[in-house]
Amino acid sequence: MEFNDLAAQYRHLKKEIDEGIAQVIEGCHFISGPQVEQLEQELCQFTGRKYCVSTSNGTDALRMPLMAMGVGPGDAVFVPAFTFYATAEVVSLCGATPVFVDSDEATFNMSPASLEEQIARVKREGKLSPRGVVAVDLFGLPADYPAISAICQREGLFLMEDGAQGFGGRIGEQEACSFGDVSATSFFPAKALGCYGDGGAVFTDDEEMCRTLQSIRVHGKGSFKYENVRVGLNARLDTLQAAVLLPKLHAFPKENEHRRWAAARYAERLSGRFQLQQEPEGYYSSFGYYTILTGGPEERERLQDALKARGIPTMVYYPCPLHLQKVYLPFGYRRGDLPVCESLAGRVLSLPMHGYITEEEIGQVYDALLNG
Ligand SMILES: *Cc1c(COP(=O)(O)O)cnc(C)c1O
Repeated sequence: MEFNDLAAQYRHLKKEIDEGIAQVIEGCHFISGPQVEQLEQELCQFTGRKYCVSTSNGTDALRMPLMAMGVGPGDAVFVPAFTFYATAEVVSLCGATPVFVDSDEATFNMSPASLEEQIARVKREGKLSPRGVVAVDLFGLPADYPAISAICQREGLFLMEDGAQGFGGRIGEQEACSFGDVSATSFFPAKALGCYGDGGAVFTDDEEMCRTLQSIRVHGKGSFKYENVRVGLNARLDTLQAAVLLPKLHAFPKENEHRRWAAARYAERLSGRFQLQQEPEGYYSSFGYYTILTGGPEERERLQDALKARGIPTMVYYPCPLHLQKVYLPFGYRRGDLPVCESLAGRVLSLPMHGYITEEEIGQVYDALLNG
């Protein structure tokens, strides 16, 4: 059994993907080919955002809006501690300081109450100026944008959505990657919408932000490539990756429905035994990852071993919250500072989940979990 069966997906989409790749090779337009612009347009349609700027990876997609907004030394940017490192790393790369926020126990996403506490603490200490918030759609579930954007408006902070895991989720009718001032996503192969290498995209409704991002993407270009008006990056999405993503985007709604069906099947059997990530009323997760809470590190290890013995792969996203990572030791955080995410890190276990998982495979997983 595969954790995320990319080979099964390829078997279903082989004809369209192979044709798309062949077209790029025949056209020889490997950088900024027509497929890139087509993908950007279709991603706008999907998310409901006005502008999409595709990028070389999700980390650059997060970093570029911070560069565009001039985030730098002395700025505090509030990020969840329970996420992939890139969310905070891009803040550090800009010379600003990530300030870590605890998780909500039910959704595993950024806790608005903890965000308010951390903003108040930074203001009280007076060393950094609060600049913005990066909220993460963990495992496919959109963060609490209604509450977080209200806090950002009151405090005059920008809000960026890290939708690297969020694509395909929604709150009511509003799609993930359309929340806040600007959103970023990743097309890393293991994400719900992944390409065959690295890729990403930024979304915004702000035309000026879009123009600045397009400039940053190509070495801070001005009116043409050899006029340089700012320090930028080489952060373009390859045409080949756009050609892989187009058929995958067309198949995405069906795969998304399949993941939601699989999540419901898991929940039916597992909810009595394990705490699950809760979708609040009106929230829809894309279930890029299906994550349960075990009793603790020992039980988790025992279950992982039992599943592994039956050929079932599992993952721990993430074993250590960011405020306790070695890189941030100089910040002086201690165990107990953000108790909810510390507890989650010791208990989470992610199960096989993808757009082609079968009823039989789901049955094998919950049998192993309930009897293992
Ligand atoms: C994957 C991921 C990223 C980084 O994306 P890359 O394409 O690997 O650079 C950032 N944030 C989160 C939450 C992610 O899961």
